[in-house]
Amino acid sequence: MQIYRNTVNGSLAEPVSSHEAYNPATGQLLGIAPESDEQDVDRAVEAAAIAQKSWAERSDQQRRDSIHEVARILEENAGYLSELITREQGKPLSGPGSIFEMQACVGWTQVPASLELEPEVVYEDDERKDTLHRVPLGVVAAIAPWNWPLMIAIWQIIPAIRMGNTVVLKPSEYTPIATLEMVRLINQALPAGVLNTVTGDGRIGSKLTHHPDISKIMFTGSETTGRRIIEASASSLSPITLELGGNDAAIVMPGTNIKNIATDLFWGAFLNMGQTCACIKRLYVHEDDYETVMTELSAIASEMKVGDGMDKSVTIGPLQNKMQFEKVRELVSDAKTSGCDIREFGEPPEKGYFMPVTLVGDIRDGQRLVDEEQFGPALPIIRYRDPEDAIESANRLEAGLGASLWADNPAEVAELAMQLEAGTVWINQHGAIHPMVPFGGNKASGYGVEFGLEGLKAVTQSRVISIKK
Ligand code: NAD
Repeated sequence: MQIYRNTVNGSLAEPVSSHEAYNPATGQLLGIAPESDEQDVDRAVEAAAIAQKSWAERSDQQRRDSIHEVARILEENAGYLSELITREQGKPLSGPGSIFEMQACVGWTQVPASLELEPEVVYEDDERKDTLHRVPLGVVAAIAPWNWPLMIAIWQIIPAIRMGNTVVLKPSEYTPIATLEMVRLINQALPAGVLNTVTGDGRIGSKLTHHPDISKIMFTGSETTGRRIIEASASSLSPITLELGGNDAAIVMPGTNIKNIATDLFWGAFLNMGQTCACIKRLYVHEDDYETVMTELSAIASEMKVGDGMDKSVTIGPLQNKMQFEKVRELVSDAKTSGCDIREFGEPPEKGYFMPVTLVGDIRDGQRLVDEEQFGPALPIIRYRDPEDAIESANRLEAGLGASLWADNPAEVAELAMQLEAGTVWINQHGAIHPMVPFGGNKASGYGVEFGLEGLKAVTQSRVISIKK
């Protein structure tokens, strides 16, 4: 049985404690994952703090070269890591699954390495010249969720180290293994201590975020934990980037050609079995188009194969963990008892956390499946009469991560797009993120952004040099 280990100060750490990790598709033992204790957190932060000085002193070019080497290692090991993701997290290998996650890891590593964040002259007159520089913060605590475990860890790690910080990463307790393997491999391209891991549940996350030597917290996860992270940051006065949950609405404009958009709508909702922060979780369609939407989405859903994602013909894998599985089933069962039109597709294997692909019609705002972030393969489809009502429905929840509008003519919805209260409003696509384009939530979906130059700025502090002429 394979035993996996944390990387601390460039070496694999012997765990004092460990737990067995299981494959959500088969229930089979996957490996032994370490459990960090509080002293492990201290050791990891100390290693990162010591390494940070010399890492920041390296030239920008040296840091970029190391990051390009990280990208090369990710590419070289993409096959191995994508299989581990599928076995541990559940998303299928093929389609927009774990191979796609590894390609994203490579892209999100290469782009920050190629960006330039130059000092900026912010003011100049005859008497003075003021230049804004961006300097590293120090040790970044990166706390990741289980849905896109490697991709989100890369989003947190790469900009941080690119800008001269070092990192202590805590993967989710549900998906430590693939992340630990990725960190072990990419450490070959980095000086010891630049990238460290600790594993464990919220208690270890809490110890890390309360650590006095942490200078920044990058957090992706639920709103509830996000609130705890804000409290924790008070002890070290660390700035935070919070990427929290979403409950994204998609609004299809009246009379849109549904055939043309059905596949994108489907995958906008069912990517990673719906366990994606910015995927369609509420679909609003005009009452005259409702039947066509149900028919077209049903036709696509009926082609799905639900099963173990290691089988390349499988398109929909299991939910990642028992708690998630039970929660989504409970929300669907609540919709069933209130008389919604439930259409289920695929023949889920009996063993494992499988659910059918579920379309839920005849449902309204206020029902649990609509109002709660369901995070599973169950899409509520809600009728509307007037597009203004649909916008109001989309905005009525506290979540504000993403939203989308669908129309034959994108220009027709440009003004409506500005009315949607979300960090990103997509038109005729959903969840289409890009490493150059800032991404983050509005309202209860968090604050701060990742990606692009804005993402690099978020892992620095500003230092103005002001010269009297
Ligand atoms: P979670 O909040 O339960 O856990 C996230 C991480 O926080 C885990 O590593 C966990 O161990 C850690 N944690 C828990 N309690 C902690 C504490 N007190 N202090 C520090 N760390 C603590 O979230 P999850 O269930 O793993 O992830 C799913 C959620 O993440 C969903 O709400 C989803 O929408 C959200 N998400 C958001 C984005 C985004 O970019 N906005 C991306 C992916 C997922």
